[in-house]
Amino acid sequence: MRLSRYFLPILRETPKEAEIVSHRLMLRAGMIRQEASGIYAWLPLGLRVLQKVGQIVREEMDRAGAIELLMPTLQLADLWRETGRYEAYGPEMLRIVDRHKRELLYGPTNEDMITEIFRAYIRSYRDLPKILYHIQWKFRDEQRPRFGVMRGREFLMKDAYSFDVDEASSRLSYNRMFVSYLRIFARMGLRAIPMRAETGPIGGDLSHEFIILAQTGESGVFCHADVLNLPVPGEDIDYDADLTPVIEAWTRLYAATEDVHDAARFERETPEDKRIHTRGIEVGQVFYFGDKYSKPMQALIAGPDGVERPFQGGSYGVGVSRLVGALIEANHDEAGIIWPEAVAPFRIGLANLKVGDGATDAACAELYAAFQKAGVDVLYDDTDERPGAKFAKLDLIGLPYQVIVGPKGLAEGKVEVKTRATGDRQSYPLAEAVARLTEA
Ligand code: ATP
Ligand code: MG
Repeated sequence: MRLSRYFLPILRETPKEAEIVSHRLMLRAGMIRQEASGIYAWLPLGLRVLQKVGQIVREEMDRAGAIELLMPTLQLADLWRETGRYEAYGPEMLRIVDRHKRELLYGPTNEDMITEIFRAYIRSYRDLPKILYHIQWKFRDEQRPRFGVMRGREFLMKDAYSFDVDEASSRLSYNRMFVSYLRIFARMGLRAIPMRAETGPIGGDLSHEFIILAQTGESGVFCHADVLNLPVPGEDIDYDADLTPVIEAWTRLYAATEDVHDAARFERETPEDKRIHTRGIEVGQVFYFGDKYSKPMQALIAGPDGVERPFQGGSYGVGVSRLVGALIEANHDEAGIIWPEAVAPFRIGLANLKVGDGATDAACAELYAAFQKAGVDVLYDDTDERPGAKFAKLDLIGLPYQVIVGPKGLAEGKVEVKTRATGDRQSYPLAEAVARLTEA
């Protein structure tokens, strides 16, 4: 992409309304624009990251055997009346009336709807287990939307739902999702810790929140320091094998949110020098809730004995849009964002330091074509801004590599490659710069 043709509205001033660094940087780097309180337009640079995050979530859901579908954002109130949640959900639910005076709502979550879909088609234990998911916008009329996309009112969530014939098999589905969550966050370069958690309005009796430790997080958390170093299963993990050893390794050490914290147990189980009490950002949550929805909605499954009973369910959310903010909280410095490669909007920023100069223009054109040919995302700064402004912009938007092309280096046949994360700079002949930055 040529910057001169792109839409990258960088802000020079630090927006006053932004309280935390990720919100400030997303506004400054032209990633989002607030359209109403807690409601954002995703500008092109932000959208690229949002899509990369969503794609990692999708790939890991698929790997774990979950199946993607897409449910609508608007739902009938009557559906939620079946489970009693229409009244119970309270002011966070955005209620809408259509021209026929039918009551609708903008979905804050989809347990009721997926149960309705399931009920319409699936009757036998032979069709189970199943895990269905979608990546769809949600609306919750939060009391205090803040921190940009971290606590929005409209936000993008991946929500998966598991269906099993009995509790034992439902726990296997829970374990699958648990392990896939470990992989999702690790692939983004984040260490998210599963912590025992309250179930809230989703309901149920078993739940873990996946939390990234950060001072700006909204949840108080307690954990054993060693959970920070546990190994995450690789992509060769066999989801049909017994996953309990992984679950046990990750749940043996103390890790709990404030809401369910047990101080006596924490002190008993965790040596003093291993006790961490800090704050964290909730990026995902898994719930087992049994027949909480299937029973009132009469979503019945015939077991091997021929007896019909409500299915056993769980739900599994990932805050896709919140993750974009959380990633920046975890990866930035004074100069701006430092994207992990897996979610970077472009891998390379190519800076032409002397636009209009025959040699630099030609070298940049050659590099740009070579990166594109290799299928590497590159943002080519072909504008006539001065070099200092180009460097500042590239540092701010945080692409992993900068390729800097100026007359001085070119006189020796070289360009400079700067690694954003380390600040390391090396000069290479053009062909070598291409080879190094395009190798897998
Ligand atoms: P929170 O405690 O932060 O309000 P929640 O527990 O109500 O979140 P869940 O129902 O567990 O949220 O939703 C699944 C995921 O969706 C959360 O783990 C979080 O990452 C994300 N999420 C929830 N609410 C918001 C929001 N207002 N803005 C952005 N992401 C959100
Ligand atoms: Mg939650």
